[in-house]
Amino acid sequence: MSLRKKFVNSSLATKKCAKCGNTYPRDDQHFYVTKHRSNVNALEYFSYCIPCENERSKQYKKNNRSKEKEKNLKYKESERGYFKELWNSVKRSTKGNQFKSYEEFFGCWEEQQKKYGLNCPYFPWIQMTRIKGKKKTTPTNISKDRILSSMPYGPNNIMFVSWQANNMKGDVTPYLASRYLEFVNRNEYCRKVTEFELSTLDYKFEGRWTKDFNLIADLIEHSRESLELQNQFIEKFLRMIRTEPNQLPEDSEDTSHDN
Ligand SMILES: [Zn+2]
Repeated sequence: MSLRKKFVNSSLATKKCAKCGNTYPRDDQHFYVTKHRSNVNALEYFSYCIPCENERSKQYKKNNRSKEKEKNLKYKESERGYFKELWNSVKRSTKGNQFKSYEEFFGCWEEQQKKYGLNCPYFPWIQMTRIKGKKKTTPTNISKDRILSSMPYGPNNIMFVSWQANNMKGDVTPYLASRYLEFVNRNEYCRKVTEFELSTLDYKFEGRWTKDFNLIADLIEHSRESLELQNQFIEKFLRMIRTEPNQLPEDSEDTSHDN
């Protein structure tokens, strides 16, 4: 046994954290260790203490996660990302799929755009969007819709319409739609309200002021026998003139169903 006094370098017994500046015993209870880069059998302590190191890696992960998320969202909102997602859901759809490829599917969107651009074919005043990352479905977002809900998705049975139109259309069939119109037209009250609403839409879309004004005056005149109906027209008229053209109707519902 050596009689020599054991040499202890006091500066090596402790270590100062480069982050918080606290001094701790130089051991693996206070600092993470790795093998030394150049000295065999030697250990190297991290320059941050364990709590600071944990905090640093937590922050690093958090930053990278939000960067990753942002990148992902940007792709989902791009035309390619958005339509790839629509395509994936067409392929998985229980309603069936007769498209041969994504290219054929996307070709239908390109064809539609020649006629309608980004506007919703049902509600042309809606400029369709590709907004992602919201909790709720955006009513103006592009959705895929089968024209005949009894038939599978396919080149002859697809339209790209706003979520709002898609939700309102639901599973309606041409038979039901034509019966419905028959009933509306047969009922004077329903027919007049509908004529009025159509004139409101015309106004919103094309701003045909004079024509609408005459129509409204006419409707009010002809509904004199029903004070209630007359009041409703006047109320609707007031609402209409307070509405900016091209403003979205507000009664948009969010039921993310798949048509
Ligand atoms: Zn520290």
